[in-house]
Amino acid sequence: MDTKVMNNLSYGIFVCTVREGDKDNGCIINTVTQVTATPNVVSVAINKTNYTHDMILKTGELNVSIINEDCEFDMIKHFGFQSGRDVNKFSVDSGEWMKENIDSCKRSANGLKYITKGVNSYISCKVKERVDLGTHTLFICEVTGGEILNDVPSATYAYYHQHIKTQVEKVGTTPEGKTVWKCKICGYIYEGDPIPDNFICPWCKHPASDFEKVVE
Ligand code: FE
Repeated sequence: MDTKVMNNLSYGIFVCTVREGDKDNGCIINTVTQVTATPNVVSVAINKTNYTHDMILKTGELNVSIINEDCEFDMIKHFGFQSGRDVNKFSVDSGEWMKENIDSCKRSANGLKYITKGVNSYISCKVKERVDLGTHTLFICEVTGGEILNDVPSATYAYYHQHIKTQVEKVGTTPEGKTVWKCKICGYIYEGDPIPDNFICPWCKHPASDFEKVVE
């Protein structure tokens, strides 16, 4: 089978946010699908290695902010390319994007964060069931709330690959002179040379063989 067939399935791209105690966190996912309308139920698959995953297991709640075509790659990097285990992604000093856009991160009725910049709407979800899929957990969730924020079209995963991710492609080395490798699957950037053989992309979990050296 030609596995490229799978690239022709259409997906959106989302910020999945969670809250446990007084800690907010979030990550980027492309796996939210409405599965029934009455009741309004969505499925959300999250990789078990994500800190967000463990927080959903404990709290049973999540928000999904639906990324639109005006999204900046810097927002994807902020939520997708670092782990909530290492940084508090919603603190003002957690990165340039958050420093500039902290006011765009609001709290919905369930107390969880959602994003208003580069996003056209959000939904709030309560986990009803979960399915262990090995690498991922599939959370079956009831939609408990949501709001439309603007009418900019939702970014499909293909749009993200063609128009948003390309903002990094001209970078060959970092300002410190480190070689840049890019994940062919998701666009994650690894800095340094060589890339370790056992390196696993922290975002899409593909191996080092799916990285290519970025040529300026
Ligand atoms: Fe990747």
